[in-house]
Amino acid sequence: MLGSLLNKNLKTCLIDSNKKIGAKIKVSGGAKCNITNEKVTSDNYLGESIFVQNILNQFSSSDMLTFCKKNGLQTVFNEKLVKGTYFCKSSNDVNSMFAHLNSHNRTFLNTEVLDIEYKNHYIIKTSNQIIEAKKIVIASGAISFRTLGASSIAFDMAEKFSHKVSRLDPALVGFTVQKDQFWFKELSGVSLEVRAKVEHKEFLGGMLFAHKGLTGPIILNSSLYWKKGLMHLDFLPHNDLKPFFKSNKKISSALPLVKRFIVAFLESVNLEDKAISSLNEEEKEKLYLLKHYAFAPAGNFGYTKAEVTKGGILTEQINDETMMSKIQKDMYFIGECLDVTGELGGFNFQFAWSSAFVCAKNLNKTRN
Ligand SMILES: Cc1cc2nc3c(=O)[nH]c(=O)nc-3n(C[C@H](O)[C@H](O)[C@H](O)COP(=O)(O)OP(=O)(O)OC[C@H]3O[C@@H](n4cnc5c(N)ncnc54)[C@H](O)[C@@H]3O)c2cc1C
Repeated sequence: MLGSLLNKNLKTCLIDSNKKIGAKIKVSGGAKCNITNEKVTSDNYLGESIFVQNILNQFSSSDMLTFCKKNGLQTVFNEKLVKGTYFCKSSNDVNSMFAHLNSHNRTFLNTEVLDIEYKNHYIIKTSNQIIEAKKIVIASGAISFRTLGASSIAFDMAEKFSHKVSRLDPALVGFTVQKDQFWFKELSGVSLEVRAKVEHKEFLGGMLFAHKGLTGPIILNSSLYWKKGLMHLDFLPHNDLKPFFKSNKKISSALPLVKRFIVAFLESVNLEDKAISSLNEEEKEKLYLLKHYAFAPAGNFGYTKAEVTKGGILTEQINDETMMSKIQKDMYFIGECLDVTGELGGFNFQFAWSSAFVCAKNLNKTRN
């Protein structure tokens, strides 16, 4: 991405440990790359909001869509799973676009960066050779999905050059559950539309019961904001329960919920599946748990399943007009390695594109 935004006269090279560029792009969005979102603001991210917004302002989601169009990449608006999302016909098209735009740069693939030293210029020690450079841009992502080439090199090098790295955690990932919610596991395969409330955030969308716990778009988003402790689910986000209490039907038939789910729910709260009109006040209270079910996840599915890593290199030490380190001259950090993590729906790619643009703009200006 960065290479493709650079002036052709600038001598640059790209180093990647993978055999091909864009491993995450390839698998993203079910191989259709959820490239950006219609509305992207700093509210969609964990991170320092002024820093994030300033970078997004310099290369917005509509700039990205224009960039794609200009380079012959067709994007498709599709809100089926998450609001405002833009996909591509195939992730391969995105990688082909970048490969084509990057063709003027030297590319070292299958080359792992092991260490970086600075002696008036950068000495990059790789698994294959030593590469020397005046400037270095670290765009090596974070530590989720090691199978796609992720490594801790950005954090190791940031710390080596006196940067601070905040606590790292898996994010955009499913939740494991505690004993009280083991009944969720019996529902493996069932999906529902729910409203989730976690910390100060609220998400409406699909949730999937999985063998290990909970997953689906609203759970992945909740994992970004969940710290520890309770979160709340509304299993009937579009209905008030009151009108149903007039019905003489059994609870499981009266409520517009998947039968397997409501039967398991009633069992979990020890409520008999009888005529909903016959419920006493105490029983109604139990049923109201459908509207505000509180539970504390046990944890999450971990880095092997997490789409991103939350936390990263502290942004107060990065210049948001250039992406250059404020501590180490000519060293730049962009993308997911920074302490900026977006929600599900194209926000993480958009931050990667925006920060790459800001960096490239500066490199083009300061060419020497
Ligand atoms: C399965 C999955 C699906 C996703 N889907 C979406 C989506 O649809 N929309 C969205 O916005 N986000 C999505 N994301 C998140 C998104 O892919 C990342 O946030 C984004 O790719 C980060 O870009 P980056 O350039 O910072 O890092 P990366 O894309 O991770 O790129 C880092 C590169 O650095 C290389 N590297 C790492 N260490 C070394 C080393 N030591 N030496 C040399 N090279 C190294 C890696 O091989 C990799 O190619 C998804 C993530 C995953 C895992």
